[in-house]
Amino acid sequence: MFDTLQDRLTATFRNLRGKGRLSESDVNEALREIRLALLEADVNLSVVKEFIAACREKLTGAEISQALNPTQQIVKVVNEELIGILGGQTREVRFAKNPPTVIMLAGLQGSGKTTLAGKLGKWLKDSKHHPLLVAADLQRPNAVNQLQVVGQRAGVAVFAPEPGNGIGDPVAVARASIEEAKRKLYDVVIVDTAGRLGVDAELMQQAIDIRNAVNPDEVLFVVDAMIGQDAVNTAQAFAQGVGFDGVVLSKLDGDARGGAALSIARVTGKPVMFASNGENLKDFDLFHPDRMASRILD
Ligand code: GDP
Repeated sequence: MFDTLQDRLTATFRNLRGKGRLSESDVNEALREIRLALLEADVNLSVVKEFIAACREKLTGAEISQALNPTQQIVKVVNEELIGILGGQTREVRFAKNPPTVIMLAGLQGSGKTTLAGKLGKWLKDSKHHPLLVAADLQRPNAVNQLQVVGQRAGVAVFAPEPGNGIGDPVAVARASIEEAKRKLYDVVIVDTAGRLGVDAELMQQAIDIRNAVNPDEVLFVVDAMIGQDAVNTAQAFAQGVGFDGVVLSKLDGDARGGAALSIARVTGKPVMFASNGENLKDFDLFHPDRMASRILD
């Protein structure tokens, strides 16, 4: 649909070969294209402004290296800057010294938490862990059942409240799951929590209560990459509410160009740790900042 940034810049700088230094107007022209590329990728406007300012500083008066043409040089600076904001390197899960490691999932309803619980469970199982999924989303009538189906598909055990015991207390379920994990030697506990369609004070408090009860090693904020600009507001609300250590971007198989990753990383300072790109268990990987930078600039 779009020309790549590289194509656009090549067109802009066709006549720039042989120059020793990028002039102010060369830099301005390039930054205009970069700004457009970022906005088309749905990067938050204030993040775009900040990003452009940082690139301007690096590019103004920069000598054109012998080895690269001006376009390549600009793309290199922009790419490095993007990768830097996205955390530089893949951030791995921090496993607890004394198992079980507790991973809590938080995010809006429909963001992909339950699906992610299955994917994470399978991924951990495949790397020789012994995970337990915990149904602490007792808000939606079908959520427990959905997690059980996902767990079965992934071949991972699920801890859920006994049916027929009323709706139950998600904090108590989460707390009991840790005891269960210790008893049955599960080494990673993945706690699925309830979300609403919008940020909601009551559910945020519930997430905080669950957090306090299970003292997670990692709280992962799961966010639908397709929500674009809204991702920043939602991420900020969760950062200030329950707080989180890392981000999971879901639905990257859609046509979102990944601007949410950059916006959230910049605004919250938290790394994106995993990328979810489909409804199947295998559609999941660690997040690679360099690949996302290419996707944003493509
Ligand atoms: P939750 O409410 O946060 O637990 O979200 P769910 O895990 O139930 O996911 C909501 C919907 O999004 C379901 O229909 C999932 O199949 C779908 N879904 C989840 N992750 C992905 C993804 O990475 N890509 C796509 N295309 N769909 C996804």
